[in-house]
Amino acid sequence: MSPAPVRFHDPGSTASDFSTSVLVRCPRCDRIAHFERRTHPEARLVCRSCGLCRTTGRCAWPTLWLRAETRHGEIWAYNLEHLDLLRRFVAATLRERPPWYEHGPKMTYVARLPAWIKCAGNRDEVLRAVDRLRASVVTAD
Ligand SMILES: [Zn+2]
Repeated sequence: MSPAPVRFHDPGSTASDFSTSVLVRCPRCDRIAHFERRTHPEARLVCRSCGLCRTTGRCAWPTLWLRAETRHGEIWAYNLEHLDLLRRFVAATLRERPPWYEHGPKMTYVARLPAWIKCAGNRDEVLRAVDRLRASVVTAD
C-alpha cells in the first residue's frame, strides 16, 4: 500500500498578499532587514542589525532575502509565511484546486508557479532549497 497522500489546498492567496512585509538584504550591512510597504506615505526599510531605518519609494525594491537558485530555476518568497506556503505546496503529493481555479477572476500565487516547481521529480531539491532559506532566517534573526 502506498502512503497516504500529503494534501495541499490552495488558500487562494496571490503573491501581492505577502508583499506588504518583505524580508530583504540590508543595503548597508548585508544582513537581513525588513521592508515594510504598508507604512505611509512611503515604504520603510528597517534593519535590526545595523540600525538602518530609511524611507523609500514603494517601488524601490531592495534585494529579496529569500531567494535561491536550483538547477531548474530560482525560487523566492517575500517572507516566511510565503515561504511556508511554497513549502507546503511542493511537499504535497495531492493538490486540490477549487473549481474556479482555471477560470477565476484572479490567478493565485500557487497557480502562477512555474511547471518545474510543480514537478514531483524536483520535489526533494526544491524542498532542500526552501529549508536552506528558512534556516538562513532563523539563524540570522
Ligand atoms: Zn543593516
